[in-house]
Amino acid sequence: MKQIVFATNNKNKLCEMREIMDGLYEVLSLEDIGCHEEIVEDAETIEGNAKIKADFVTNRYHIDCFADDTGLEVEALNGAPGVYTARFAGEHCSYQDNVDKMLATMKGQTNRKAAFRTCIALNLNGKSYYFEGRCDGKITEEQRGNEGFGYDPIFQPDGFDQTFAELGHEVKNAISHRGRATQKLISFLRQRSESF
Ligand code: IMP
Repeated sequence: MKQIVFATNNKNKLCEMREIMDGLYEVLSLEDIGCHEEIVEDAETIEGNAKIKADFVTNRYHIDCFADDTGLEVEALNGAPGVYTARFAGEHCSYQDNVDKMLATMKGQTNRKAAFRTCIALNLNGKSYYFEGRCDGKITEEQRGNEGFGYDPIFQPDGFDQTFAELGHEVKNAISHRGRATQKLISFLRQRSESF
């Protein structure tokens, strides 16, 4: 099977991506290619951060690679935390710290609309491509469910009564921001491989 590098060491994301790409590509992680350096993600947008990660691997290891970056945009917070989603509760905070901070920040707020946005940057044969996926929903009043990661226990996608953490992997992958961006990436890669 063809191989492609996914510039991440996040086990949850890797696992999701391997499920989504099953049968099409063998997805290698940074660890799999022996890349242990810290990649500083200091861009002002999720597109910029995805590009930093993909370019780092391609420039250093001379291999095709894709990277993703995700932001949670909350309407009542004017789109925050956005590019700061991972560090919302501070540097080195845990997923639970972020969930607690979001629930506290949104306490009493009636407009709970939010969206996850993922950008995937792909470097393939010397060219760069971008794919975006979006999932609209709301921030719940309290956390529910045990699956997934990050803000999953407090994010309820539109059209569902359950949070991502209650819905489970299969449903989440089909409708999530990363799932949608990945479907676009896969369609693109499929078309490319068919044209050879
Ligand atoms: P990243 O830059 O793609 O790693 O995402 C930034 C942060 O967004 C992560 O640290 C998580 O807190 C959160 N996040 C990303 N994807 C998801 C998801 O699918 N569900 C819940 N939280 C997520």
